Amino acid sequence: MEQGATIKHNIKNAPKTGSWRYIKPEVNKDKCIGCETCVAFCPDACIEMRKHENDKKNKAEIDYDFCKGCGVCAQVCPVKAIIMKKN
Ligand code: SF4
Ligand code: SF4
Repeated sequence: MEQGATIKHNIKNAPKTGSWRYIKPEVNKDKCIGCETCVAFCPDACIEMRKHENDKKNKAEIDYDFCKGCGVCAQVCPVKAIIMKKN
């Protein structure tokens, strides 16, 4: 039986799915509690947790080069810190 292989993902070679988007998610950093639920559910793996000045916790930040506007993050956020807006 053939064995599988894992190919390391190189983000620089990834197609920029952001051009598919017609609505975009916006994170309200004051509402975000840093739970990382959106990070786990984003199908494009384009949400990172980052610390900003005056923030005690890391907050969600979206990479719009790869976000395709599916809205999953807004659906799963437990405190409704992400809203979808027209692109
Ligand atoms: S809209 Fe979809 S692709 Fe964009 S950040 Fe949210 S879950 Fe990820
Ligand atoms: S799911 Fe909502 S509260 Fe949790 S990290 Fe994402 S934006 Fe913040």
